[in-house]
Amino acid sequence: MKPLIAGNWKMNGLASSIAEIHALIDEFSGAAPDDRDVVICPPATLVATFAAEFSDEAIQIGGQDCHPAQSGAHTGDISAEMLADAGAAFVIVGHSERRADHGETDATVRAKADAALRAGLTPIICVGETEEQRKAGQALAVVGAQLAGSLPETADPFVVAYEPVWAIGTGLTPTTDDIAEMHDFIRAKTPAGMRILYGGSVKPANAAEILAIDNVDGALVGGASLKAADFHPIVMAAPGER
Ligand code: PEP
Repeated sequence: MKPLIAGNWKMNGLASSIAEIHALIDEFSGAAPDDRDVVICPPATLVATFAAEFSDEAIQIGGQDCHPAQSGAHTGDISAEMLADAGAAFVIVGHSERRADHGETDATVRAKADAALRAGLTPIICVGETEEQRKAGQALAVVGAQLAGSLPETADPFVVAYEPVWAIGTGLTPTTDDIAEMHDFIRAKTPAGMRILYGGSVKPANAAEILAIDNVDGALVGGASLKAADFHPIVMAAPGER
């Protein structure tokens, strides 16, 4: 499978931040390598500009969320069709910050993933347990329930991102054994051929170790995707297609 490294910029980035993508392309000596997929998910305000600017350099653009409906009376929301129209190829759905801050349920996340597929986008569907759930030995059960409730029923490609909530933005990561156990578990519950990313405090210093784990097909990277100097070594740490 071709590895996928996606950067989630969250609510960070202004028009001037395009300089970081130019810096990333310079690190790649002109274009992203074709043996891995490189995706940047900037805030919605930057999707169209970035998509127009970087299509020749093999940097793909994604949204960070979409509404389940195609259009309508949903002030402030953005549909998957709008993201596709702006040039996005991917969209993150069900990130733990949206599940927590916006009360998104598994059913909402599945509806958003369905919407993404309807619009021709590849959804990156996030799942992951809290610290309390892991400490209580419930990590596999929690993620299993999220998968059962959030994954679309489709033969179209989608991506699952395992992001333990307690590892996001904290500098903490699960042990390699725990990541391997969870990714094996997700593989068994996901249609063949879908990429499974790990996310949560991936940095240049730990990327190679994490990306070498069986059934880790790439990474979803938050803080370390904002700077080309951090994101480039993470992208390059992914082993080639396997
Ligand atoms: C994320 O929010 O998707 C994420 C993985 O964040 P960080 O890399 O900063 O932990």
